[in-house]
Amino acid sequence: MALEIVCANCDSDDHLSGEPLDDGQIRLTCAACRIEWIRDPRPRCPKCGGEDLYHIPQVILEKSRGTQMSIQGIHIEYGCHDCDPPEVKVRGGRTTHLPDRLGGSQ
Ligand SMILES: [Zn+2]
Ligand SMILES: [Zn+2]
Repeated sequence: MALEIVCANCDSDDHLSGEPLDDGQIRLTCAACRIEWIRDPRPRCPKCGGEDLYHIPQVILEKSRGTQMSIQGIHIEYGCHDCDPPEVKVRGGRTTHLPDRLGGSQ
């Protein structure tokens, strides 16, 4: 098994431990960041059933008082190369680009 798993927060696998769950998924824990998340070892696209997916790890932060951001966990989203091609792989057609943020206003 050559699964490349790193913590989406600290980008390291030094402190990771995995624990298989009943439904075939893996619960990963990063001891350094003290967060845990669930990883599906064989994710499938719900639209086309394909396995050609890419990962979009989202670090879930929660603002606590002051300036500290505390990490709540990691949510892994999956994109399908066929149904939701990543922007770099757009070919031919039109891309829907949001205008660059000018900053300041929101
Ligand atoms: Zn970590
Ligand atoms: Zn798909």
